[in-house]
Amino acid sequence: MSELVIKNLHVNVEDTEILTGVDLTIKTGEVHAVMGPNGTGKSTLAYALMGHPKYSVTKGEATLNGQDLLDLDPSERSSLGLFLAFQYPVAVPGVSVANFLRTAINAHRKYQDPEDKGISIPDFRKKLKEKMALLKMDESFASRYLNDGFSGGEKKRVEILQMATLEPKFSILDETDSGLDIDALKIVSDGVNAISSETHGVLLITHYQRILNYIKPDFVHVMLDGKIVQSGGPELALKLEEEGYEWLREKHTA
Ligand code: ADP
Ligand code: MG
Repeated sequence: MSELVIKNLHVNVEDTEILTGVDLTIKTGEVHAVMGPNGTGKSTLAYALMGHPKYSVTKGEATLNGQDLLDLDPSERSSLGLFLAFQYPVAVPGVSVANFLRTAINAHRKYQDPEDKGISIPDFRKKLKEKMALLKMDESFASRYLNDGFSGGEKKRVEILQMATLEPKFSILDETDSGLDIDALKIVSDGVNAISSETHGVLLITHYQRILNYIKPDFVHVMLDGKIVQSGGPELALKLEEEGYEWLREKHTA
């Protein structure tokens, strides 16, 4: 079992404090949903955990199996088993999906063993084929340039393929559901569910309850003004859908 522990995390963006003390512990095998209105700091949590330079941690800690993450650069965090699926994936014309994934795998292998010569082409092909089958993706996808001209749904699928191929211990999905029609949403959810297992923990950031019909969370947390103000089970997401966030805001500021 692995554990991602976030304690009293404070994060500034351009000298403004956005996260004001986040506590969260995620174990492999668990799905945690973080919900909240726009602008409350959900993406800030995701980026700060991954080590984006614009998000500076001013207080608190984040550890993976006891190892401090905050001193590491994003590639080191990735090599240790942390994965972030972007809300807005970028296009990289000239780099194929397959090439991108192989480079990422090799970077991880090199981190574990500086002498590593990289995954062999046959082994990589086999792995990629297996993961694409798992996600019901057409094989032609692999030779296309990364996200170049991809539809919203295709971009999200590549994020999930990347997650499946890198086999992280913890994945953060930042509004992977935003802008998806119901078919694309189902593809992404099926993909996440195909991967979610005892060796994988998920932090699912979402603005809407909708995706939680497909990816069942074990825990639901509500973020308001840079803090988790309420935690519960899946029923909390349903209550939010019916009643919005105001009751929590009143309770929180009272
Ligand atoms: P959420 O994901 O919950 O919608 P964000 O974490 O994106 O919220 O944003 C929280 C607050 O931080 C917002 O007020 C936003 O304007 C600000 N913020 C986030 N990222 C940046 C950034 N890169 N530059 C400036 N302000 C930012
Ligand atoms: Mg966001």
